Amino acid sequence: MPVIATAERVVKCPTSHCPGWITVDDDRPQTVPCRYCRVTVNTLTYLLEGVPDAPDDAGAEGRLPHAVHEAFNGLLMQVAGMTRGNVYLRPSERVLVGLVPGTRGLIVEYNLALARQTGAATMVALILHSLLHLAIHPREERPLGLTLRAGARDKESLQNAANYLGILADHPWIEARIAEIDPALTAAEQTWGLPLAGMLTGTETFFPPYMAERNRRWIAEQFGQPEADAETVTPALLARLATLSHRFFAGQREDLRRTLTTLQLTDLGLRNPDRVAAYQAALEATGLSGVAAAATTATRMVAELQEIYATSPTFDTTANRRVLDAALKALGLHTAFEVQTLKSG
Ligand SMILES: [Zn+2]
Ligand SMILES: [Zn+2]
Repeated sequence: MPVIATAERVVKCPTSHCPGWITVDDDRPQTVPCRYCRVTVNTLTYLLEGVPDAPDDAGAEGRLPHAVHEAFNGLLMQVAGMTRGNVYLRPSERVLVGLVPGTRGLIVEYNLALARQTGAATMVALILHSLLHLAIHPREERPLGLTLRAGARDKESLQNAANYLGILADHPWIEARIAEIDPALTAAEQTWGLPLAGMLTGTETFFPPYMAERNRRWIAEQFGQPEADAETVTPALLARLATLSHRFFAGQREDLRRTLTTLQLTDLGLRNPDRVAAYQAALEATGLSGVAAAATTATRMVAELQEIYATSPTFDTTANRRVLDAALKALGLHTAFEVQTLKSG
């Protein structure tokens, strides 16, 4: 029997305009469907049935804390409301984590081998991260984008790098939210190098699809070794990211190379500050030029973004715009790109 008897609670159905209430029982693998609109989501218990908690992130009862269940299940419900469908969890070999639209809702695919090897907390952090990117942007608000200014055609090749700011801008809020749910989740994602993995493959990678796919296979292989542990896997992720970044960045135009390097160091500074020095050293060891200057800019960007987070701990369009403006300015790209409200939602 679970120690906590109150695994059950009644919450408002997330579907807009639906008058229903849903009973969420954290011990059950799926919520009872809303009696009006039938919406339902899988729960963290569903995930845990296939993934034993790692010994160091297990509570006395061998399960993640109640607060993690509540936050995870609550977020799945919120996303169900935003995407107007059910949210399912599904193990998949093809991703580390991925969101796939299905016929009856959103499917959150997760890599079972990674989950088994690294423990439930790591996988939970990975899933929370990808769902929070959705959840912190209210559906009724139009997304912000970065558009090339008229007369800045010479900076067009930096458009994709500028677009990455849209991802980076969410990270102070996402990391703070994950730490607020349970600092052990943050520790797990940092220990296993998830921020490094995120730059190698998946929706936040810096590399072209064929290389991102190759990286995903390689990462799955690393995590799949029976003797895999964080002490060997994480430095290997760091080394691979540095090697590939050198290979892909070195031949680029100087301004693009500097921007990409700065973005990587900033992202790591926001998500795993303890590893910035090691990554900078690894990049410098490859012979990539301009790393020290990029690191200086990155340090300033991290401080500015954290400052905006501190003054606006609730993410909204104003905070989003401020972060994007500050980042553009720190990168020296504010004369080339501007923050604009995109037409389609
Ligand atoms: Zn409903
Ligand atoms: Zn992210």
